[in-house]
Amino acid sequence: MTTITATTCPLCSPDLASLIWQDGFCHVIFVDDANYPGFCRVILNTHIKEMTDLSPADRTRLLNVVFAVEAAVREAVQPDKINLASLGNVVPHLHWHVIPRWQDDVNFPDAIWAQARRPAANQHHEQSGKSARERIKQQIQQHLLSTLATTLE
Ligand SMILES: [Zn+2]
Repeated sequence: MTTITATTCPLCSPDLASLIWQDGFCHVIFVDDANYPGFCRVILNTHIKEMTDLSPADRTRLLNVVFAVEAAVREAVQPDKINLASLGNVVPHLHWHVIPRWQDDVNFPDAIWAQARRPAANQHHEQSGKSARERIKQQIQQHLLSTLATTLE
């Protein structure tokens, strides 16, 4: 297995097309997934592996952004549940997944990375279209800009 370093890490170069908020510490991207409309990732700007590699103040700072994203996703898509996940097994660069879940989504009640339990046809059709996802992305971005102290830098 190849080791992912800062020079080969995909998370070290932000995907500008999906970027919805950033400051000098971390950034938030919108994950365009028809199965999980509203899915976002909070990514630390530096190539650090674990939460406990951060100072206590920086852990709190990162989690405050995660919780702001959670609140924004809840408001935008009103899911049955939010899943917060920090895995980093594939890319060892701190990032949090903020995933809206519905009782009839393809994987529920398993993690979204598990094998699908049912077809995607049971999804929330009114939210899964491309234009609906674009609207959700804008709602989440506006919520973040109004709730987080800093603005896009
Ligand atoms: Zn990285």
